[in-house]
Amino acid sequence: MGHTQSDSRKKNQLIEILEKQKQDLVVRFLKKQVEVEAGKDFTDKILSSLSSLFFLLNEELIVVQANQEFYCCLEYSAEDGEPLSLKQISGQKNFEIVKNALSKGEFNTLETSLCTRAGKEIPVTLKGSSYTTESGRVLHMLIASDRSDYQTMMTRMSEAQEQLIHSDRLASLGEMAAGIGHELTQPLNAILLYSRNCIKALENPLQNRSMLEGNLNIIIDRVNKATSIIRSLKNFGSKAPEELTGVNMNEILLNILEFLDSRLTLSDIHLHLELDETVPLVLGQEVKLEQVCLNLIQNAIQAMGKTERPVLTIKTGLQMGIDPETLEENQFVLTAIIDNGEGIDRAIQEKIFDPFFTTREVGTGMGLGLSIVDQIIREFSGVIKVKSSPGSGSCFSVLLPPHHKENQRKGI
Ligand code: ADP
Repeated sequence: MGHTQSDSRKKNQLIEILEKQKQDLVVRFLKKQVEVEAGKDFTDKILSSLSSLFFLLNEELIVVQANQEFYCCLEYSAEDGEPLSLKQISGQKNFEIVKNALSKGEFNTLETSLCTRAGKEIPVTLKGSSYTTESGRVLHMLIASDRSDYQTMMTRMSEAQEQLIHSDRLASLGEMAAGIGHELTQPLNAILLYSRNCIKALENPLQNRSMLEGNLNIIIDRVNKATSIIRSLKNFGSKAPEELTGVNMNEILLNILEFLDSRLTLSDIHLHLELDETVPLVLGQEVKLEQVCLNLIQNAIQAMGKTERPVLTIKTGLQMGIDPETLEENQFVLTAIIDNGEGIDRAIQEKIFDPFFTTREVGTGMGLGLSIVDQIIREFSGVIKVKSSPGSGSCFSVLLPPHHKENQRKGI
């Protein structure tokens, strides 16, 4: 009996010990679980704050865990419960590529794309690494950064660049065409006029012989002028950088006025010249500055089309102005083209230098004249200003740095 008693005590003790051990185990298990939960919470929090798509694949390449961004971006739901395979989310096309990369254990930047539930491709940069857990489970951890924004930006940038190149080309073509048109109109008109005169004079050729000869000589002269314009425009069109030299604005103006002589006479325009003979040379290129003066004078002539007593005033001289580069007040060579024509409305005064802005009838003006003028003057570190009151005329003042001062600045 004594044997049974001690036996049952021992048994009780054993039960007690086992019970205690069980409790210990439960406590330890619970603690562990809390730790695991806390750890899981922590990783969940990190994963959900990631703006990248995070997903974990098992050995069969099925998604076992993923963050919110992943589900959101690929339009799946974590609650769906249906197993998602890599093949589904990478699309057939990329599946082999990603699988191949995974087989190497680790990869850093794989540019590929993922598929949304609806089949839309999302360009991503994929990073991956594979590891084996203590229990021997193989897991693949993948992080995908959405490249859509970047791609949209790149597409937009390249589109914008294409447009720029296109408009640049268009503008250059337009500039050339407009320039040629502008400058050739006068000699072509003269040729037409004198040819018509010749035809008329041919009704009585013997009597009109000297007149015919005179007209034909003028025609030859205008053709030569047109040829020289084309030659100079060719130089203007070619982008080969010409050297900057000292240019005499007075000479340029006088040359152009000679060239426009018959047009001024024809339009009954009175010319008032106030050229300062002592004005210094400006640093620029003759052909381009000729273009500037020609455009401004032609605009002035056009503006006086309906003026009763048209007067074209051209002045040169020295004037103080603000250097657009240094913002210092300096002396400039002034060239002013003044007309008493229709003037320019205050509202459009700011727009007249914009490319393609014109108030002329469709087909007569391309609206490039003043934008070319502005471009050239800026190129030579100058400025152009306009003062105008509608109905009484306009004054365009071109200020260019004198040649000697530019030399000093460059230490020549
Ligand atoms: P376009 O002569 O082909 O119209 P411009 O760039 O030379 O192109 O001129 C743009 C516009 O500026 C003209 O359409 C005209 O309205 C205005 N403009 C230019 N010069 C004068 C001027 N001297 N008087 C009045 N308006 C002018």
